[in-house]
Amino acid sequence: MGTKKRRKLIAGNWKMNKTPSQTKVFVEELNRRLEGVRGCDTVICVPFVDIPAAVRTAKARCITVGAQNMHHEPSGAYTGEISSQMLQDLGVKYVIVGHSERRRDFGETDVIVNKKLRAALGGNMIPILCVGESIEQRERGVTEELICLQIKEALSGVEARQVRRIVIAYEPIWAIGTGMTATVEDAREVCALIRAQIRRVFGAAAARSVRILYGGSMNAKNAKGLLACPDIDGGLIGGASLSADEFITIIEEAVQAGGDDEKPVPVE
Ligand code: PEP
Repeated sequence: MGTKKRRKLIAGNWKMNKTPSQTKVFVEELNRRLEGVRGCDTVICVPFVDIPAAVRTAKARCITVGAQNMHHEPSGAYTGEISSQMLQDLGVKYVIVGHSERRRDFGETDVIVNKKLRAALGGNMIPILCVGESIEQRERGVTEELICLQIKEALSGVEARQVRRIVIAYEPIWAIGTGMTATVEDAREVCALIRAQIRRVFGAAAARSVRILYGGSMNAKNAKGLLACPDIDGGLIGGASLSADEFITIIEEAVQAGGDDEKPVPVE
């Protein structure tokens, strides 16, 4: 068994916030304060129009720019859409797929999420796949079933060797933007379940290397406990990624927590 570590990853999802000028100022501050940071990958998933400013300004080694969405087709008559080729040409490396706001507000189904994820992989980008249950589903006790189904559908047609390039974010819908965070134990349990599901479908090597994030009202105060969990490899951060102080504190917590050994995943 190798001793490779899964590096922590902190990804900010700005949603529909900040103009290109504000992006430049914000990223300049990140550059200054993250210059010497090693041991944690940082991604800022900015609105499409902010991408050029973010890519141009990002200088600190640990900062990478991501997008929040993309279309699955490479080009064509899809008014208002953006393809992976366009994003790549701008220097974008990561793309969020299947965020619950897109599933809820823009009708994205598991089938569409699967097409986007495969297009991102085909375009050599790293998809950050979001999965998570609603409060009703949690109360009905179907969280495990739902998450396994979302993963199965989203990763349909994906090969085991590609799974190590995917990031999965467990984002309970009821915790997004609400200030309600999952308990450390609940978050850990679902992230471990996701890893076990990856193992069942794609094998031990894929499960050891895939990075699994928690997202849902993570902030400077609760990050430490969440990031200390063995199966949580980082965070997808919405609201708190808009403040340089909060975001940087979370990154510092991730550095402190360090990476996890790619330990064997227990067989169910
Ligand atoms: C998100 O949008 O992915 C998210 C986790 O948001 P917040 O941190 O604001 O809950």
